[in-house]
Amino acid sequence: MLQSVNPTTGEVVKTYEAHTSEGTEKIINAVDKTWHHWRSTSFMFRSQLMQNLSGLLKSKREELAFLMALEMGKVKQEGMAEIDKCAWACDYYAANAESFLENEPIPTEAFKSYVSYQPIGTVLGIMPWNFPFWQVFRFVAPTLMAGNTAVLKHASNVPGCAIAIEELFREAGFPENVFRTLLIGSKQVEKVIRHKAIKAVSITGSTPAGKSVAAIAGSELKKCVLELGGSDPYIILEDADMELAAQKCAAGRLLNAGQSCIGAKRFIVEEKVYAHFLELFTHEMSAAVFGDPFDEDTTMGPLARFDLRDELHQQVVASVEKGAEVIIGGEIPQIKGAFYPPTILENVKPGMPAYDEELFGPVASVIKVKDLQEAVKVANDTEFGLGAAIFTANRSKGENIAEMRLEAGACFVNDFVKSDPRLPFGGIKTSGFGRELSVHGIKEFTNIKTVVVK
Ligand code: NDP
Repeated sequence: MLQSVNPTTGEVVKTYEAHTSEGTEKIINAVDKTWHHWRSTSFMFRSQLMQNLSGLLKSKREELAFLMALEMGKVKQEGMAEIDKCAWACDYYAANAESFLENEPIPTEAFKSYVSYQPIGTVLGIMPWNFPFWQVFRFVAPTLMAGNTAVLKHASNVPGCAIAIEELFREAGFPENVFRTLLIGSKQVEKVIRHKAIKAVSITGSTPAGKSVAAIAGSELKKCVLELGGSDPYIILEDADMELAAQKCAAGRLLNAGQSCIGAKRFIVEEKVYAHFLELFTHEMSAAVFGDPFDEDTTMGPLARFDLRDELHQQVVASVEKGAEVIIGGEIPQIKGAFYPPTILENVKPGMPAYDEELFGPVASVIKVKDLQEAVKVANDTEFGLGAAIFTANRSKGENIAEMRLEAGACFVNDFVKSDPRLPFGGIKTSGFGRELSVHGIKEFTNIKTVVVK
């Protein structure tokens, strides 16, 4: 049984009967059967369906945002923006998939030789609750446009969103069983990965979940794309525009109540401007209005689950016990709901959870450094490598550090890190491997086939 619980009230929204193993098997076999037909459909046909899907998303943006607010507490404005972004991904791949996957001629001694990008079959997507629509669409739009079919194992706390996504495909006119949702818990995933019809896996989630999935996929020699945790460092140099830095850093930390893998998490500030930055940053973080996600004035909802809120608070408490100092927040508010206030910790050092671990909520770790050299060292002193940012008035210096010295899959200068369908997305180190989005994302689940004609 799967249950959605409203994190704003703690009340059960709905319970869902999970698929049995026979039910799961039946769905996977049906999706696999459909693949043999879907793979030979034209790009034009698939593009048309993707455009229908995009139109449907746009027309239902409010209703779908409501569902996210109900199941995981996302504020309505952010929910509608998320749905718009899903529509963008559908449009983007509808327009570009064919050219991305065009044959690439390579001259050799043969009469003809080229690379062809062929679909591989049914791909399993294991997705998290933090962006319940976006995480799924950024996986599924390129995967289907490449001629694959897909099954989704969504996070157990957002079954309503999982079912809504399946319904959207049906309503957009996709053939039955091109995309299906499996209502199963994580214990049932191993059997699905090992199913002979499943050819590859894409998971977005925590590093432990990624390691487990990768180990099973590895034992079956099935490809996987892993988009896992992050502890993104943001460097603030002394020549930076401090107001801009404070504003972008707070926005990057508080988006989705801080529950984002590419959320800004550690703020590394040169000592000369440390006090000034901290003052402005504290002001920006304190301006967040947390409360009911359905309220127009609310900028930050509750965390998605009570256990996640409690876990985050434990990380804060353990950091404070080891010497971190609380500038704002740091206490569980005495109100109903899984709320956690915007929190700033300073004097954060190695050995503290706030330094070493991913803090998945609105908690910022501020770290003072003497110069750029030390800033880069601290930025890279992490097991993660998803995103990073640097703030400086010297654009070319920022660009050089972003490109050459920061160890991450995406490095931004003077802005917070965000995903974009046109740009590749993914990490290094324990943030995972493989890439989603852009031309790189669509090629992940293809057979990059060499064809030689003598
Ligand atoms: P998980 O990583 O456990 O869940 C993400 C998805 O993976 C869900 O669909 C989950 O299913 C599934 N899953 C979990 N464990 C396994 C497994 N062993 N094998 C196969 N599938 C698995 O995240 P949580 O919801 O438990 O959140 C815990 C922490 O993970 C957060 O506090 C945060 O630090 C991090 N996280 C990071 C995300 C990111 O985008 N980087 C996203 C979500 C979480 P089910 O829900 O049924 O367990």
